[in-house]
Amino acid sequence: MNAEAKTLPSLVGVTRAELTKALASSGVAPKDLRMRTGQLWHWIYHRGAQDFSAMKNVAKPMQEALAERFTLARPEITTEQVSADGTRKWLIRMPPASKFDKGAEIECVYIPEATRGTLCVSSQVGCTLNCTFCHTGTQKLVRNLTAAEIVAQVMVARDRLGDFPGGIAPTDGLVPSGEGTRAVSNIVFMGMGEPLYNYDHVRDAIGVLTDGEGLSLSKRRITVSTSGVVPLMRALGEECGTMLAVSLHATNDKLRDEIVPLNKKYPIKMLLDACHTYPGASNARRITFEYVMLKGINDSPAEARALVRLLKGLPAKINLIPFNPWPGSPYVCSDWETIEKFSDIVFNAGYASPVRTPRGRDISAACGQLKSETEKLRARARMMLEESLALGQE
Ligand code: SAH
Ligand code: SF4
Repeated sequence: MNAEAKTLPSLVGVTRAELTKALASSGVAPKDLRMRTGQLWHWIYHRGAQDFSAMKNVAKPMQEALAERFTLARPEITTEQVSADGTRKWLIRMPPASKFDKGAEIECVYIPEATRGTLCVSSQVGCTLNCTFCHTGTQKLVRNLTAAEIVAQVMVARDRLGDFPGGIAPTDGLVPSGEGTRAVSNIVFMGMGEPLYNYDHVRDAIGVLTDGEGLSLSKRRITVSTSGVVPLMRALGEECGTMLAVSLHATNDKLRDEIVPLNKKYPIKMLLDACHTYPGASNARRITFEYVMLKGINDSPAEARALVRLLKGLPAKINLIPFNPWPGSPYVCSDWETIEKFSDIVFNAGYASPVRTPRGRDISAACGQLKSETEKLRARARMMLEESLALGQE
């Protein structure tokens, strides 16, 4: 691709409305806009076309008009690490969003299992919330990702995994295969950033991901994790209809104020009220409560019992996450016996609370070899692996 082509905007990741606008600007007559949008949509998101010339039912002059104005370029995978268990970690470089932007680099993790493949995506570069156990929280927010940049993470993953028709899967045999199998079947918003602080873009991205004529991901296979941005939880349920995960991490306001400072604004009771009224929550569509195990901080049997009491009456799953330390982190992970004891109490109260072996351990260990930006994401990446295992179980 020449330098000039690189500066053209890409249509990969755009919403239907944006695509229609792009087509109108390329000379498509108003009466044909709907039909043409549908055609292009199919090629981009269903077929994964990388070139306008592949679009067989689009006339040549139209292909050329589009190619003069747009590309189908994807952000670039700058580093890939593959674990022996098939977990893949990609460093993806987004093109600069403006002349003031260097082009963000984000990490995306893919976790294959026998019956599904989960992709953990980022919604922001950095995070403005300062949860004390989270490494991303120590970074200054660089910026929100656009809806297109969120969708592009999925496109890049599907390209790489050969998950579009005619695509070529990596030859290492670590990607799920078989008739009707989709390499990327589940998405979790558990990468960098607070999705509900970038709500509009996250909502638009989910719209693209779940569009039945394109990527066609089921809403029930998409989980959005929030640290508790109460005012937007209802909108998420109503407008996006996705599964919800809530980063609870403490059972009383005093401690939660300290470790999840957003709690000062939206305390536990308010947060749980919003969970009780989360649209679509039911026993078949449980809310996941994430609970990071911090030694001597939130891991006592009394806290396990308090957790069970707090969640009474809610259709809930509990996900205990061993704390992933990072350089300079003020905590250590609870001992294994403590985690087991905590998990037993939760289990005996009727909640499945698996604490599973982390995936991709070998590549996480090696990720210090990546550049410094990636280093900052290390804790997050490991956590993502943990998380994804317990989610999107359908
Ligand atoms: N901002 C959102 C989503 C991204 S974080 C949120 O906070 O929910 C995804 C999950 O990873 C959250 O539950 C978060 O609390 C947890 N997490 C962050 N840092 C961690 C660490 N060092 N060890 C274990 N879990 C961590
Ligand atoms: Fe932000 Fe989530 Fe990390 Fe808290 S845990 S700082 S909300 S990314």
